[in-house]
Amino acid sequence: MTATRKILALLLSASILTPLPSAALAPQDYKQEAIANIESHTKMIQVMVDTVFSYGEPGFQEFRTGAYVTDILAKNGFKITKGVAGIPTAWTATWGEGGPLIALGSDEDDLRGVSQIPGDPKIEPMVPGAPGHGEGHNSGMPLQIAAALAIKAVMEKHHIKGRLMLWPGIAEELLGTKAFYVRDGLFKNVDACIFTHVANDFSTAYGPSSNGMVSVEYTFHGKTAHAAGDPWDGRSALDAVEIMDVAMNFRREHLPLSQRTHYVISNGGGQPNIVPGVASVWYYFRDYTFDRVKELYDIGNKTADAAAMATDTTVEHKLLGTAAPNYGNKPMALLAQANIEAVGMPKWTADDQAFAKLVQETQHFKIEPLKDKVTPLRGPREDSVPTGGGSDDIGDIMWTIPTITIRYPSNVPNTIAHNVTAAMAMATPIAHKGAVAGAKAVALTVLDLMMTPDELTKAKDFFNSEQQKYDHYKPFLSATDVPAIHVNDDYMRTYRPLMEPYYYDSKKYDTYLDQLGIKYPNPPTAPIRKITPPKSSGDTASGG
Ligand SMILES: [Zn+2]
Repeated sequence: MTATRKILALLLSASILTPLPSAALAPQDYKQEAIANIESHTKMIQVMVDTVFSYGEPGFQEFRTGAYVTDILAKNGFKITKGVAGIPTAWTATWGEGGPLIALGSDEDDLRGVSQIPGDPKIEPMVPGAPGHGEGHNSGMPLQIAAALAIKAVMEKHHIKGRLMLWPGIAEELLGTKAFYVRDGLFKNVDACIFTHVANDFSTAYGPSSNGMVSVEYTFHGKTAHAAGDPWDGRSALDAVEIMDVAMNFRREHLPLSQRTHYVISNGGGQPNIVPGVASVWYYFRDYTFDRVKELYDIGNKTADAAAMATDTTVEHKLLGTAAPNYGNKPMALLAQANIEAVGMPKWTADDQAFAKLVQETQHFKIEPLKDKVTPLRGPREDSVPTGGGSDDIGDIMWTIPTITIRYPSNVPNTIAHNVTAAMAMATPIAHKGAVAGAKAVALTVLDLMMTPDELTKAKDFFNSEQQKYDHYKPFLSATDVPAIHVNDDYMRTYRPLMEPYYYDSKKYDTYLDQLGIKYPNPPTAPIRKITPPKSSGDTASGG
């Protein structure tokens, strides 16, 4: 007998059909089994979090991370499909049959130039110039794997019908893939999605949040010449870049307050005595609705074309990433919030609090202990003109199927995201415990959705009515845009060999900190770096 039938039989046997109490969601004993299963995997979670931290791969380079996590999933009975949506490092892992299909996702990539020794409150790169987990994406997929194994165990034991699909956020820091997943139909038959993201709190939200965004590189082509000998024969591509930037900066005053536009000159030419024949500038255009992002993107495109015209050069537009504005599903957020509250915050030790304080003191951040209470459910933002900052390409999935993000407490309050300071705790017990707590919240929420068709119906109704009243999905991708899988190729060719000596060997060492000889929560006393490679000019490239 299936669990749903058991519940029905129980109800029918009662003389009066009373309204189902909240326990009509997944039964408490099933939930306890899921929690026990995750607790039995505490060591495995630590090993996975530390291993992925040590691989430290940036966007589109998540080869080792992907091989490592899919190997674990394959050994646990998941069917792996690699290279989905034309992205070599993307994959899906599916399991189960019949019933609802629930997707579980989390990002895997890290950031250029933010290599950091974990457990060290001083800024100390493991490999100077190399990438590092300066946002903590190393913890998300380990969390989802632990959740998936627990859900699978409970479903198998109680013969619950349903399917899981795990998927990685590839190149999230470049906002590089989720819109392509959607365009390729990866979520076509999926009923709902639970995404997780590292944070210093334990929370979820519904309604609109965060900016939509388009990342685009404009490459101008002119004509080189001797900059002193015959400059009149040259047409400077760098002139076009500078004219575009000046024009955009003048235009800025006449744009809505909610927009955010920023750029870097990704190629400014070779040396001053050559008129640059090729030059590139990379822009991010952000705002809080699809239409506003589109307007801003159009202004950027027009300005680039005008700069080309002004300089007798030509210009190519290459889209490098996009993100839809985020919109969380309310019925799912209510379910998840109840489970987050049931799970509660991790039990922080005096050592965990001491390390958090050490990071904050050393980095001159506001001193604030690791949180001891979960965050109340967040609803839609209340500001009428949002002036919000970052973006997350989970937005594209949020506009495709009912989706929420669960934020789990694996990091130290007041550290800076996309920064070395956010890497310091990410291979310490703080990160491990946050991932364990997050895995429980995900597992309980998935069991609720699998076992209560009504909850999935509510989630879909909200998606089809409330959410569509607010806006509709208008992808920023054109039919010809392709994922920017070349990004970081050269960079990793340089840094991967330098990082390999620091990969975590979980067979030899209990934890990564043990391997590095760091006695948590104390900072390292001896130098950790074995080699000092040449300093790179590589700057942090980030998108989220
Ligand atoms: Zn992120």
